[in-house]
Amino acid sequence: MRHRPLTRLAHSRIASALQAGDLAVDATVGNAHDTRFLAEQVGEEGHVWGFDVQPSALAAAGQALAQQGLSARVTLVEDGHQALAERLPLQAQGRLAVVMFNLGYLPGSDKQITTRAATTLPALEAAVANLRPGGLLSVLTYRGHPGGDEEAAAVASWMADAQGRGCRYDVIESPGPILYLLTTPA
Ligand code: SAH
Repeated sequence: MRHRPLTRLAHSRIASALQAGDLAVDATVGNAHDTRFLAEQVGEEGHVWGFDVQPSALAAAGQALAQQGLSARVTLVEDGHQALAERLPLQAQGRLAVVMFNLGYLPGSDKQITTRAATTLPALEAAVANLRPGGLLSVLTYRGHPGGDEEAAAVASWMADAQGRGCRYDVIESPGPILYLLTTPA
């Protein structure tokens, strides 16, 4: 299930951070709701790279984006987000305005295919390394599913560590998911 209030909050913070022409990454395409949102925000001059390890999710995402006339501004990458640094073209490295993660598994799909701490943490590190100064990282974590509690705890300590390195973040807790909004130093 999508967590509407936290998703809405993330979208409104991201909308105020993004301008036409900006570059952004959706690190977990899934049903492509966030990919579409980012593509609309960056406009025709901007670009979005979307990562997912599930070919079926990317195929559906590609079709939906084409129907919405957004294909030209989105590159879908069939690879884990931990490969972000290697898969991002030179022109985008260190220039991303926003990176979004919606962790966990894709509802209605194979629940075994879930994000995991071991790959999520290197991906978060690569995301921060490729954000521009004052860039925004949005991470929605879920607990309760296999590996979820461990991943949520790992993300929490990664955030605290990133703060020690000059980033600032807000955490919005709920009984279910937790949203982190982190800004890199200006
Ligand atoms: N929990 C959310 C949906 C998360 S979808 C909700 O309820 O709305 C998470 C997506 O991440 C899935 O489509 C899954 O295929 C993808 N994923 C899993 N591991 C990944 C990885 N290492 N890199 C990129 N995407 C990954």
